[in-house]
Amino acid sequence: MNLPKYSMGIGDRFAHQGRAQLAAFVKAKQQGVDVAPVWNKSNREHNIVHSEPDSVRDEANSAVKALGWQGAYFVDADHIGLKTVDRFLAPSDFFTIDVADYIGKPAADDSVRAFVSANAKYTGSLRVPGIDAALDVTPARVEAIARKYLYAAQEAGKVYRYIAEKKGEGNFVPEVSMDETDQPQTPVELLFILAALAHEKVPVRTVAPKFTGRFNKGVDYVGDLAQFEREFNDDLAVIAFAVKEFGLPADLKLSVHSGSDKFSIYPAIRRAVRRTGAGLHIKTAGTTWLEELIGLASAGGEGLQIARDVYTQALGRFDELCGPYATVIDIDRARLPTPEQVAGWDGERYAAALRHDQRNSNYNPHFRQLLHVGFKVAAQMGGRYTDALKRYEETVAKNVTENIYDRHLKRVFVGE
Ligand SMILES: [Zn+2]
Repeated sequence: MNLPKYSMGIGDRFAHQGRAQLAAFVKAKQQGVDVAPVWNKSNREHNIVHSEPDSVRDEANSAVKALGWQGAYFVDADHIGLKTVDRFLAPSDFFTIDVADYIGKPAADDSVRAFVSANAKYTGSLRVPGIDAALDVTPARVEAIARKYLYAAQEAGKVYRYIAEKKGEGNFVPEVSMDETDQPQTPVELLFILAALAHEKVPVRTVAPKFTGRFNKGVDYVGDLAQFEREFNDDLAVIAFAVKEFGLPADLKLSVHSGSDKFSIYPAIRRAVRRTGAGLHIKTAGTTWLEELIGLASAGGEGLQIARDVYTQALGRFDELCGPYATVIDIDRARLPTPEQVAGWDGERYAAALRHDQRNSNYNPHFRQLLHVGFKVAAQMGGRYTDALKRYEETVAKNVTENIYDRHLKRVFVGE
């Protein structure tokens, strides 16, 4: 199963926006750019919303049917491991094998020694086409990388083989992710992580490292843009090198787990992809549920009331909702509006505070982040929330499609 050159991971907490999401990919195609949609939903999201992975498959299939989409599309078992993969096996054809928790666990000494000697030819002053300076790779450095990442690569091998045994090799796209960790991986580390994955015979198609900088949920990138661009370019060079040297699949590509909406790094990503001709998987726009709130607020009436109620309840449950996401949000509580203030807002004012438009002086990233992690509140509203999604479908869908096309597909793939 081949993943097209360009693909984009999209999320939909409540599984009502499949068609509106796909409509954005149709628009890109009309501009001559093929991007495959990959619907993803993590185990954690399923648990919070009380949904099953089958619902993501149903949503994707019915959107594809409704819009007559002829291109490839996928359903991603997002951030799974051996403990969580089972219920994803049947409905998914893309598996994000998350081994971040295994980084730093010690691999057996003999496997570390074998890895270091198998990679001895890459030690010294290593030239990687596309990287200006030679990489300084001492045997000690290879050993240190093995001690940090070999166990995680072995775990990826275990999970891959488990999935392959159930689904059959070649019937799914395997991604390996290490992004949910504090320490970014350097291009040299990525090189030897790929060596280890090749040694484990994982035919990895996309690899998601942790990049330098902060990737908070639903808001823009915070970090050194020049450093990010260098690292991103070096990672692309390392991947091309690893494909040749280690016999990994020729279409192996970088996967950017953005946490959504890293607009300020999009130009660097676009430049690099255009310059090198490399493929790209970018996981973004997990903020579709915020577009639902924007649509509901803009519709007024009960829609606006729901949007206000979600905020008031989320604020009252701040610690509970933010706890699981503590490492990927930065909310200044002093910048959050009071429920009384929000009660006085009309739909446009609410939408302006929430919509990710940094040029709008009413945009409030603190408000946005709290609502982003507050989807549990909407889930617990049950029918009141989902009935409103149906009642105000038109306004909601317009926001969902515009967000994915104008702020993501256009900026990364199509060009403005
Ligand atoms: Zn991730």
